[in-house]
Amino acid sequence: MIVLGLGGMGSATLFHLARRGLRVLGLERFDLVHEHGSSHGLTRIIRLAYWEHPTYVSLLRRAYELWRELEGLSAERLLHITGSIDAGPAGGPVFEGALRSSELHGLPHEVMDGAELHRRFPGYRLPRETRCLYQPDGGFLLPERCNVAHVMLAQAHGAEVHCREPVLDWGVTGGRVWVATSRGRYEAGRLVVCAGPWAAKLVPELGGLAVPERQVLAWLQPSRPEYFRPDVFPVFNLEAEEGRCYGFPSFLVPGFKFGKYHHRGEIVDPDAVNPEPQPEDEELLRSFARRYFPDGAGPTMMLKTCLFTNSPDRHFILDRHPDHPEVTIAAGFSGHGYKFCSVIGEIMADLAQQGQSRHDIGFFRLERFAPSL
Ligand SMILES: Cc1cc2nc3c(=O)[nH]c(=O)nc-3n(C[C@H](O)[C@H](O)[C@H](O)COP(=O)(O)OP(=O)(O)OC[C@H]3O[C@@H](n4cnc5c(N)ncnc54)[C@H](O)[C@@H]3O)c2cc1C
Repeated sequence: MIVLGLGGMGSATLFHLARRGLRVLGLERFDLVHEHGSSHGLTRIIRLAYWEHPTYVSLLRRAYELWRELEGLSAERLLHITGSIDAGPAGGPVFEGALRSSELHGLPHEVMDGAELHRRFPGYRLPRETRCLYQPDGGFLLPERCNVAHVMLAQAHGAEVHCREPVLDWGVTGGRVWVATSRGRYEAGRLVVCAGPWAAKLVPELGGLAVPERQVLAWLQPSRPEYFRPDVFPVFNLEAEEGRCYGFPSFLVPGFKFGKYHHRGEIVDPDAVNPEPQPEDEELLRSFARRYFPDGAGPTMMLKTCLFTNSPDRHFILDRHPDHPEVTIAAGFSGHGYKFCSVIGEIMADLAQQGQSRHDIGFFRLERFAPSL
C-alpha cells in the first residue's frame, strides 16, 4: 500500500495500515514537519458539540478514543482539555447547531449569555446578548506532534517513509497502482491520496471540489496573561458580526491565538502562495481581538499562513476514486478536519484494506457532487 502525503490524514492512515501488519510506504513531498500545508501552527481545536452537523459526533467520540490511545502509545501528551465555547446570536448556526448536537447526543453542556461567560472566563468580552454554549470536553491537539507520533509508531510497525520525495504521477494498470516520484517508481495494490491542498492536482476529478484557500493565524501577547491560560480560557468558535472566528488559550508561545474562518476569501494555488502574512492580514485579526478579547490584544508575537481545502458543502470527502477502486481519497476538510485525523486514519485504512469502513461514512461520499464528476 502507498500513502501519498504525510500531513494530518496521511500520517494517521500510515499508522493504521502499518499496525494491521500491512506493508506500507508513505511518500511526502516536503519535510516530515513543514509549514506549506494545513497541519502546522502548534494547536488545533477539538470539540464535541459539533455545530456543523450532528453526524460528526459519533466519529468524534472515536477520534477522542484514538487520540488518547496515541498518547499512551507515544508516551506524549497530545490532547489538552480546556472546555469549548460555541457562541453567536440566537438563531445563528454556531450556537443553535452546537445546542442541537449536544441535545441529540446527550452531551454535558451549559448555556449562558455573554455577561455570564465573562464572569466565568474573564478573557471573553462578548456582547451580553450573545448566546454561548460551554461543553467541558473541548480542547486542543498538538498537530505537529500528533503527525510525528503517528509516523514514528507506523515506522515501529515496519512502515517505510520517504520525505522530500514528491509524487509526480500515478496510474492503475491491470488492477495494480503505480506511483512515479522524483526519485523512483513504486507499485502497490492500493493507493491512499491524502494530499491536502494539493488533492485536485493529483486527482483532477476533485477540481472545484477541493479548493485551497489562504488563511492567517495570529498570536497576540495578552495584557492579562492570567486570563488566557489553558485552565481558564476554553477554546472557542464565535459567530460575530465580522464573520466566524475561533481561538485558543496561550500555549507554547506567549500569545492568545486566533483566526477568522475564510480569512479574506483568497482562493489560491498551493504552489504559489505567499507564505508571508501582510499588514492587512494582521489588522483584520487585530480589530477582531480588540473588540471581543481586549485583554488579549497586545503586541503581535507571531503570524502564520496556512491553507484550508474547501469542498462545496464544507463537509469532508472520504471515498474511493470514481474510476479506480484501488485508489481511495481523503480530501476537502474545509478548515475543520484536524480533530478527526485519528479516526480518518482508521477509516482510510478500512477503505484501502476492505473497500468499506466500520464507520458510517455515507455522508462523505463523492457522489453527492455527482453532476460535477
Ligand atoms: C489556519 C488553520 C486552522 C485550522 N484549525 C483547525 C482546528 O482548530 N481544528 C480542526 O479540527 N481543524 C483545523 N484546521 C483544519 C485542519 O488543520 C485540516 O483539515 C487538516 O490539517 C488537513 O490535513 P490533510 O492531511 O488533509 O492536509 P495536510 O496536513 O496539508 O497534508 C497533506 C500532505 O500531502 C503532502 N503532499 C501534497 N502533494 C504531494 C505530492 N505530490 N507528493 C507527496 N506529498 C504530497 C503535503 O506536503 C502535505 O504534507 C485548520 C486549518 C488551518 C489552515
